[in-house]
Amino acid sequence: MKAEERLVIRPAHIQQLIDSLIRRGYRVKGPVVRNEAVVYDDLSSLEDLPIGWTDEQGGGRYRLRRRDDEALFGYSLGPRTWKVFLHPPERRLWKAERNGRGFRIIEEEERPPLFAFIGVRPCELHAISILDRVLAGGEFVDPSYRARREGLFVVVANCGEAGGTCFCSSMDTGPAAASGFDIALTEVVTAEDHYLLAEAGTGKGAEVLGETGGVRPGEAEITAARKTVEEAAARMGRSMTGSDLKDLLYRSYEHPRWDDVARRCLTCGNCTMVCPTCFCTTVEDRTEITGGTAERWQRADSCFSAEFSYIHGGSIRSSPKARYRHWIMHKLAAWVDQFGRSGCVGCGRCITWCPVGIDITEEVGAIRKNGVRGSDREGEG
Ligand code: SF4
Ligand code: SF4
Repeated sequence: MKAEERLVIRPAHIQQLIDSLIRRGYRVKGPVVRNEAVVYDDLSSLEDLPIGWTDEQGGGRYRLRRRDDEALFGYSLGPRTWKVFLHPPERRLWKAERNGRGFRIIEEEERPPLFAFIGVRPCELHAISILDRVLAGGEFVDPSYRARREGLFVVVANCGEAGGTCFCSSMDTGPAAASGFDIALTEVVTAEDHYLLAEAGTGKGAEVLGETGGVRPGEAEITAARKTVEEAAARMGRSMTGSDLKDLLYRSYEHPRWDDVARRCLTCGNCTMVCPTCFCTTVEDRTEITGGTAERWQRADSCFSAEFSYIHGGSIRSSPKARYRHWIMHKLAAWVDQFGRSGCVGCGRCITWCPVGIDITEEVGAIRKNGVRGSDREGEG
């Protein structure tokens, strides 16, 4: 990054950043406090940000707590991911209207807004790049995702706090973003000072950043920003490493740990709903009671439901063991074969929002520690 593409901005300058994006026609989304959690929603004012809030997270636990400073991005991650805007949990695909003795099909014409996301965490940026590969990078492109993704303006907030369940540094997805953003912010809060080191990653980013009223950083400010993310990395309490993970899991198909986790898993699907890379959907037809209209909707689905694997007379994955094992095997192993990288970015959401606190890093650790058992794939039951 060239020095002239970095500026130091003050918290108040974030308003100029928001205004500048709105003037350019962006629908700005960012972190706000709703229902005792930090979620992503419409953002029009600096005051909408979760100023002075942080979160405490653990397995099955999330609480907001007041900080003793006015940090803008002093929390880690909430339950809502950016995929709700790029790959909405529910959308109509088409509608049919009775037309005499037949039907007229009306295709859904989507005109998604031009999105600007403020406060994207580095792991979440990786998650978006994974969705790009899955939904727009292959032979079969999801036109809705592509339309929503096109022109997206991304303002990253590098992490100064390690969340209680994060493990991005071991997945090489954080706590600082190296590329793929328009602007990256690193917030530095000390007893004496409060500023954000802003780096432009694109020409568009440099243009918007230039309108914020920032000033060139000094060496001390650059060093403090670097130290902030280094300290966040050092405070991360979990890890999940190993280039051998794919092979380890493939060889552990009949490992007894799957029975152990199945006794705890409620198959509620929360982990897949909050995961920023889980993308599975189903379709549902709704017919008006008078028979005048019918609609087809795409809805988010989860591999934890029995219906998800239902084909011709029954579910392939009928037990909780088969479903949990499928999820982790796909996420951490088969995903690599399909899309060239792991489907996990280490955000920790599946740990925080699992009602019984099942921890993906712990499950993988147990399989690794207890050695490989049963490499034969003996069926999914
Ligand atoms: S599997 Fe869990 S930790 Fe990994 S990206 Fe999904 S929600 Fe985050
Ligand atoms: S692992 Fe946890 S969140 Fe996921 S389905 Fe099981 S109980 Fe629900």
